[in-house]
Amino acid sequence: MQHFEITKKLVDEDEIKTIVKRLGAEISAGYGSLENELIVIGLLRGSFVFMADLIREIKIPLVVDFMTVSSYGDGTVSSGDVKIVMDVDLSVEGRDVLLVEDIVDTGRTFAKVVRMMKNRKPKSVKTCTFLNKPSARISDVQVDFCGKDIDDEFVVGYGLDYGQSYRNLPYVGVLKP
Ligand code: 5GP
Repeated sequence: MQHFEITKKLVDEDEIKTIVKRLGAEISAGYGSLENELIVIGLLRGSFVFMADLIREIKIPLVVDFMTVSSYGDGTVSSGDVKIVMDVDLSVEGRDVLLVEDIVDTGRTFAKVVRMMKNRKPKSVKTCTFLNKPSARISDVQVDFCGKDIDDEFVVGYGLDYGQSYRNLPYVGVLKP
């Protein structure tokens, strides 16, 4: 097992709490009176820690589903090859959908998932990410609710991994290259 040092803490526990609270409030206010519960879909695996905190800060009725999308393998550079590994169970037709990512980097993953969701004729599709790297963007994708913009560095913790490790760090940090 190879473990590297964290060179800097980028988002600490207190800032994470503040960000998640703000996002929950923005999302709650961003939907008027809903006909049906909001469907909140987390992209696995990275988003699961953020999702667990976020849904408890959303004050409107919701249901949760997950999908697994793979694009990175075990490395630190996006392959650009986005695959749907596990789809959602719920039908999204006529429903309000909120897609939740841990981090938007090139934007390819979110762009593909948004396109796929829109083909299923939902009432609306919005996007939320905990972290965002605007300078790494290749695919144009609208981020409706954004936690924090960061520089183009590889980060781990708070659900984000390197080779499946580091997801349990309670903060977001940068790995020593
Ligand atoms: P994109 O398709 O936007 O290039 O990449 C999105 C996915 O790549 C994220 O859901 C995440 O799994 C992974 N990713 C992008 N940047 C980082 C990063 O800095 N750290 C980690 N751990 N994963 C990242």
